[in-house]
Amino acid sequence: MVEVASSLMDLLGPEKVSFVEDDLATHAVDALRSNRGYPHTGTVVPQPVAVVRPSSADEVARVVKFASAHGASIVPYGGGTGLMGGAIPLRPSIVVDLGNMNRITSMSRDDRTATVGAGVVLADLERELNRHGLILGHDPWSLPIATVGGAISTDGLGYRAYKYGSMGDQVLGLTVVLADGRILKTRAVPRHSTGVDMNRLFIGGEGCFGVITEATLRVFPQPEERRLLSYTFPNFETGFEAIMDIFQTGLSPAMLEFGEGGPASSAEQTTLYLAYEGVREEVASQAQRTAAMFDGYSATSLADGEAEEFWETRHRVAERFKRGRVMKLGDSLAATPSERYFDYIHVALPASKVLQYRLACMDITSRYGLDTVDYGLWCQPELFSTVVVKASLAGTADAEAISRAVDEMLRLVHELGGSMEYCHGVGVRLAHLMEEEHGEVGIDLLRSLKKALDPQDILNPGKLGL
Ligand SMILES: Cc1cc2nc3c(=O)[nH]c(=O)nc-3n(C[C@H](O)[C@H](O)[C@H](O)COP(=O)(O)OP(=O)(O)OC[C@H]3O[C@@H](n4cnc5c(N)ncnc54)[C@H](O)[C@@H]3O)c2cc1C
Repeated sequence: MVEVASSLMDLLGPEKVSFVEDDLATHAVDALRSNRGYPHTGTVVPQPVAVVRPSSADEVARVVKFASAHGASIVPYGGGTGLMGGAIPLRPSIVVDLGNMNRITSMSRDDRTATVGAGVVLADLERELNRHGLILGHDPWSLPIATVGGAISTDGLGYRAYKYGSMGDQVLGLTVVLADGRILKTRAVPRHSTGVDMNRLFIGGEGCFGVITEATLRVFPQPEERRLLSYTFPNFETGFEAIMDIFQTGLSPAMLEFGEGGPASSAEQTTLYLAYEGVREEVASQAQRTAAMFDGYSATSLADGEAEEFWETRHRVAERFKRGRVMKLGDSLAATPSERYFDYIHVALPASKVLQYRLACMDITSRYGLDTVDYGLWCQPELFSTVVVKASLAGTADAEAISRAVDEMLRLVHELGGSMEYCHGVGVRLAHLMEEEHGEVGIDLLRSLKKALDPQDILNPGKLGL
């Protein structure tokens, strides 16, 4: 250990290397908690050996070469908000915290691009873009904490994804340190027809194929107008039909959040929040058309200000997470939780299968003695989510029941032609289902790519089912 410490310090300078227990503890976990019911609950033992904070691609390359020479692993760490355990070091690892690479290198209104370090926090980028009349298309709940590199590596989805796409869709070019220490810089252009898109190897790659150090992103003009709408529906099915109508008519909401549960004051409500944004005339006509269409679905418009409040407070959950994240190494993942076990799924399905799937979820969870709560749609009708809980606090048997029920629900998604996760990645939580997700040939291809690019398996081993 002493040898590793002094070598890393020689490579980067002592101020960029830490072995302090608190530092190791905060870099041992992300947002995957011990009260999530999944197959390895309580058995994952994080093994951070050191935390390094490089400030250039060159320094990252030095660390990667060092790890390769000493048989250590590399785990890239952004904001640590990943919900699947993607940033948990499963083997003795050097955790590469990209937090020092937080410079906005350039921003252009004419080109509608921003070039930024991988460690830039999304909210900081959004604020800076806003000062120049621009916005980032990616607006997740976790905006105040998540980083550009982490969001690209999980191909996250935000509130405005239907209009602007996922985080991966914003990527024009990347700088990436590969497992052998070479630095790849892809051409930052909106389109090319010069072979496969190499950016895509790293989008959703969870750091398994390289460490992203910089990204050039597509950014958008600040919308001239934003109109926020909120409605309640008599039940999920009617709301779903109304949403289908929106999309079949060709309307294009920037934001859509639909769910059973709704505002705390009306727990049983099925509520829809919508935002249209863009040029004034387009926004007005889309909002008008929506209101007219919804008359036919027994929709009730919520009180003035309710949609605005939803919009203004949409990142509050991340602030709560930030306040509550202080935890100690060891008792964060292995300990029996003091809260109820739960898990959630975020699946992509053909729209025509969503209602049938929702009923099947109720059936599966009741067979396991569990409850499903908070059914929802996000961004578009194909993106469905639900939370599985055990109403009472009964211990690890619940974790097993939740894990088995969720696996059954995810396998049903596969049968129905969908994908088991649409925005949070795979990490350790879903690794065991990757073969079923991609099929024998698909997973074999991914593993061959991994082997070709990282033959020693030093980049975030154990993730993505590779
Ligand atoms: C309260 C809360 C709300 C959330 N809301 C949303 C939401 O609305 N939408 C959504 O999509 N997700 C959401 N998430 C999940 C999470 O915020 C996203 O997955 C986010 O994109 C992760 O970013 P991060 O910087 O925190 O990454 P981390 O958690 O640090 O890392 C995520 C993965 O990416 C890898 N990685 C990190 N940086 C790099 C890099 N530079 N190069 C290569 N690999 C890297 C890590 O090794 C890990 O595998 C939420 C999470 C929380 C806790």
